[in-house]
Amino acid sequence: MGEFESLKTKLGKFSLANKTLLMPDMSHAGNVLLTGTLRSFGIDVQLMQTYKGLQLGKQYTSGKECFPCQITLGDLLHHLEQEKERLGDAFQPENYLYFMAESGGPCRFGMYNKLHRIILDSLDGFGKIRIATITSNDSYALGGLLEPQMLTHFRRSAYVSVVIGDVLDRMLWRTRPYEKEPGQAEDYFQEALDIMCREMEIHGRRKKFRKILDTLEAVVRKARDLIDPTIPSKPLIGMVGEIYLRSHRQSNQDLIKLLERHGGETVNASIAEWINYVAYDNMQRARRELIYALRRRDLKSLRQHFKDWLSNRTELTYQYFRLDQIYRRVKKHLPIHGDHRINQIEKQLDNDRLFSFHVGTEAGLSIGGALEYCLHGFDGIVNVFPFTCMPSTMCSAILKPVLDRIQIPYIDASYDGTFQPNLEAIVRTFMYQAVQRQEKRQAQGKLGTKH
Ligand code: SF4
Repeated sequence: MGEFESLKTKLGKFSLANKTLLMPDMSHAGNVLLTGTLRSFGIDVQLMQTYKGLQLGKQYTSGKECFPCQITLGDLLHHLEQEKERLGDAFQPENYLYFMAESGGPCRFGMYNKLHRIILDSLDGFGKIRIATITSNDSYALGGLLEPQMLTHFRRSAYVSVVIGDVLDRMLWRTRPYEKEPGQAEDYFQEALDIMCREMEIHGRRKKFRKILDTLEAVVRKARDLIDPTIPSKPLIGMVGEIYLRSHRQSNQDLIKLLERHGGETVNASIAEWINYVAYDNMQRARRELIYALRRRDLKSLRQHFKDWLSNRTELTYQYFRLDQIYRRVKKHLPIHGDHRINQIEKQLDNDRLFSFHVGTEAGLSIGGALEYCLHGFDGIVNVFPFTCMPSTMCSAILKPVLDRIQIPYIDASYDGTFQPNLEAIVRTFMYQAVQRQEKRQAQGKLGTKH
């Protein structure tokens, strides 16, 4: 076998049937619910413990890789070591499929699974583990992984599980800063996550979304009681940045809790926002290609691009329908913050003057998303990312002067696994500025969220 042959033969779209799928844990609530959904479709899945194997991740990389690449590699190696220990001679690497998505350029996310492949091949006993992947280039098409008759149905159940994961996170961030007893909100969050995971396992495959949402409503209704109404509204902090670092609380050293400790209420950009962005971006790309094909009078390409446009358009319409339905039902009981529409985020880029979605990456989402927060009365913006992350560095270069001009407090928070002793002082100063901004807003009668 040629040196890179295994990148073709052991990395791709492999059937999940009769295999154990190893799932990295990025955004914990969403990932737990996704594993519930996968189980409901009869797939054997293990959600790997995260951040326990960071040393292994660092040991097998050079230090130049993106931080999430090291974390996910460490999670995988740690999990495999544990499986080997648990099963002894019965451990069969060919029974596992490791899941690692990818995206096209311009940054390095598309290379994680290739590097992981090379490292697995270099390790005795792990070379037979294949890597299952999906890519944002085709809106995470699942063909090849699941039976054709399951595809649309699974895709939609998975989307619902992602949105419910976002909602549970927002429930926690909405209640924890105002909880009556310290620790209550987190305990309840865990309880709620277990309940919703069971719902996805039981009803995910049967498309019983109404039943799932009835349970979600009951869960959120109870969360309302955690809030002490005598605690005044706190300054609202909007979080943007690289999706892994901002969603993975171990690697961002629980930044949301740190902001809360210094008197803030935080809303992080959601995971559903990224999925909606992928569908939106592919739809817009297909539209552009359609126009070029029309000009060239290339009928064959015209048909193909129209098909692509229509399928992304249909998916996005469905996603917005479910998103609105879920948030509407939840907001009847608890005023959590909603999700931004992608076209609204794009509008904030001022006709591509600040940045263009055509460049790709999350930078456009983070820049536009931060400005959307500002428009909706937030008091400060935090940009969270892995040290040296390319899109987030662009985002920082653009956001800093813009937010400075409109006088919104802003900080960058970059992480590489080490502890920065001055981070707490930076957050404290930032929160002081956010409080001042909130007071100014309140003096002008522009009040924040009520509870
Ligand atoms: S978004 Fe940042 S961290 Fe992620 S692959 Fe690109 S450069 Fe690396």
